[in-house]
Amino acid sequence: MNRIDREIVAYHEAGHAVIGYRFGQRFADLSIQSSNGREGFCHFFSGLNNPKHAALVLLAGHAAEKHLCQSASKKPSRSDHRKICQLTGAMSSSEFKALLKQADELVTANWHQIQAVAKRLLEEGMVKGGMFAEIIEAKDTNRDG
Ligand SMILES: [Zn+2]
Repeated sequence: MNRIDREIVAYHEAGHAVIGYRFGQRFADLSIQSSNGREGFCHFFSGLNNPKHAALVLLAGHAAEKHLCQSASKKPSRSDHRKICQLTGAMSSSEFKALLKQADELVTANWHQIQAVAKRLLEEGMVKGGMFAEIIEAKDTNRDG
């Protein structure tokens, strides 16, 4: 992976993780070192009961890429896309558009946290669940930091 790709993957995974955290999801670890060399991963402990929340967590990966760099953003990852389709298949297109907008807004509102997690991912290659909570809470209490 080149430097830009690595950065995009870090923000993508951080987007999933931070928005998932906001909906109460907890995970074991978050990594940008995957076996296929293309995507990172985020292993959540639990799924979300609310399909809308689950779709927002999935959409947040791509929303974070877009927020980082509009031009560098590729299409949503294929595995995310498949799951998003399953979760939102019954929605009308206006409902889906509203959901996309909500994902963008969540990413914007949590950008400091996403940046902090992505930065740590780029430095260390991975973030453990416990460390992740510390990063988020430090940013939550120090909003200017
Ligand atoms: Zn993803």
